[in-house]
Amino acid sequence: MTVRELYKSMCTAFEGVTDTPQIDARALICHTLGLDYGRFMLCMNDTIPSEKLDILQNHSDRRQSGEPVAYILGERGFYECTFKVSKSTLIPRADTEILVEHAISDITARMNDADEVSILDLCCGTGCIGISVAKVLARTFQKVNLTLSDLSCDALEICKENVRNLIVESNISVTVLQGNLLEPIGSARFDAILSNPPYIASAVVPTLEKQVLFEPMLALDGGEDGLDLVKAIAKQAPSHLKEGSLLMMEIGYDQGARTCEILRECGFENVGILKDYGDCDRVVKGHVFKDNREA
Ligand code: GLN
Repeated sequence: MTVRELYKSMCTAFEGVTDTPQIDARALICHTLGLDYGRFMLCMNDTIPSEKLDILQNHSDRRQSGEPVAYILGERGFYECTFKVSKSTLIPRADTEILVEHAISDITARMNDADEVSILDLCCGTGCIGISVAKVLARTFQKVNLTLSDLSCDALEICKENVRNLIVESNISVTVLQGNLLEPIGSARFDAILSNPPYIASAVVPTLEKQVLFEPMLALDGGEDGLDLVKAIAKQAPSHLKEGSLLMMEIGYDQGARTCEILRECGFENVGILKDYGDCDRVVKGHVFKDNREA
């Protein structure tokens, strides 16, 4: 079978399963055959070796059953890097890059005369937020201390692999902690706490697209109104932030007003919302000042 024949049959098979049949088919073929998109166009008439064809047939079956491409390939591109993913981690999403970009600008502008910066990625999953932010900050600051924390041991195994593969900078020091929200942190204080916590309301979870339901419930379900973890983090974060420091959390498109209120109730100032590429509320942010922190 040629690349063209397989590509066409996969595109047809993926109709109705995904909104992006061509992109998905091309991603699976390119990854398996080691082609970039340019080479892919030039290789259309090549015959696919039988061992690769078996792998691709299996990939195609999995995609037809609704499994996301990122889980089939075991990786997903996010910000500047490719992150390893597994069924124990959420798949990094483009919308989360908004949080990464704004966190980098906030920290860089606010701390421009500091040598060292400490950040915490809470509910880190693959570690895509913390690793992406730390790599950029390491170009500006002499030392970056990155703490990554999650409840899921399986997710942390993937996160550690991403740290090993992607953190090559000698001025980044990494700590990986397992536990519930800020409990494993001890008395440490950070210049920024960044998080993409589970924020989907429990009743909404079963109505999500089929392919989202391949992702871990622990990373999606935020309790009755979706805000259980957002509230807990907003409450716990001030005592783990240095004066003037930043809390930034990803939120659902309809949670902007309520999460701003939650942050204000917990003593945050400069509270605001950032929109995603689809112009929906996506990130809530606030700073905490000395007088507002718990002792
Ligand atoms: N921080 C990770 C991400 O944004 C995981 C988030 C989560 O598990 N809720 O992909």
